[in-house]
Amino acid sequence: MPQAVITVKDLVKHYTEIKAVNGISFEVFENEIFGLLGPNGAGKTTTLEIIETLREKSSGEVMVYGLNVEKDNNEIKKIIGVQLQAAGYYPALTLSELLVLFSGLYNVKVDTHEMLKLVGLEDRSKSKYKELSGGQKQRFSICTTLINKPKIVFLDEPTTGLDPQARRNLWELIKQIRAQGTTVVITTHYMDEAENLCDRVAIIEKGKIIALDTPDKLIDDLVEKGFERKKKVKDANLEDVFLSLTGQEWRDE
Ligand code: ATP
Repeated sequence: MPQAVITVKDLVKHYTEIKAVNGISFEVFENEIFGLLGPNGAGKTTTLEIIETLREKSSGEVMVYGLNVEKDNNEIKKIIGVQLQAAGYYPALTLSELLVLFSGLYNVKVDTHEMLKLVGLEDRSKSKYKELSGGQKQRFSICTTLINKPKIVFLDEPTTGLDPQARRNLWELIKQIRAQGTTVVITTHYMDEAENLCDRVAIIEKGKIIALDTPDKLIDDLVEKGFERKKKVKDANLEDVFLSLTGQEWRDE
C-alpha cells in the first residue's frame, strides 16, 4: 500500500454566503503527482490553502505527514513548499538576492547557482524578477518552493498563460522534482497537462469530489459507457504544428 502523506476527511469551508468546500475526503500518496481539477470557483484553491495552513477550515480533518493543520501548522510549513504570488517578489532584487532573502526566512543556506540551475535559470542570477518572461517567472517561483527541500510542493495553476513550449518545459521540471522524491499537488485547467503529469486526479465541482482516479481509468470508464468523440481526431493538432515549427527542445523563453 502506498503511504498517504496528506489525508483530508470531510473537509468543509464556508464563507459567509458560500460553501466553497462541501465535505470532501481524499488522500495524497507519497511521491505521486496529484491533480485537483475543476471549473472556476469549484473550491480547489481553498482546499490547497487549507492544507498549506494558510486558511482556516470550518470543519473536518486535514493531516500532513501525520501533523494536524490546526495544531502543527509551524511544523507543516517546514516540510512543504508553496508558490508565492508574483507580488511577493521585491522588484529591485536580483534572482540570487531573492533566493538568499527567502532562504534567510527559512533559516537555511542555499547554493543559489545550484538552485537556479535546477530550473534552467543559472544564467539569469543577476536579472530582476520583472525582467523575466512568463515561463521564466514560473520556473523561478517553483525554484523558491524548493528552498527548504520540502517533502511536498503545492503548485496552483503553474502553467496558466504560458506558451505550449514553456508549459512542456515546466512539465519536465515538475517531473524532475518528483523524481527527486518530492510529492507534488497541482491544480490546473489544462486537461492535457493533468493527463501528462498526474498519477491521480480528483475532479471537484461545487465543493464536492465527483471523481477520483488515474487519468487512464477515468478515460477508460467514459469510453466503456459508450462515449465517442464527435469529431474524428487527426494524427496531429495545431499545438503539434506550433511545437514542430518553433522547436521542441528546452529553449530560453
Ligand atoms: P479557480 O479555478 O477559478 O481558481 P477554485 O476552484 O480555486 O477556482 P476557490 O478559489 O477555492 O475556487 O473558490 C471557491 C469559492 O469560494 C468561489 O465561489 C469563491 O468566490 C469563494 N471564495 C474564495 N475565497 C473567498 C473569500 N476569501 N471570501 C469569500 N468567498 C471566497
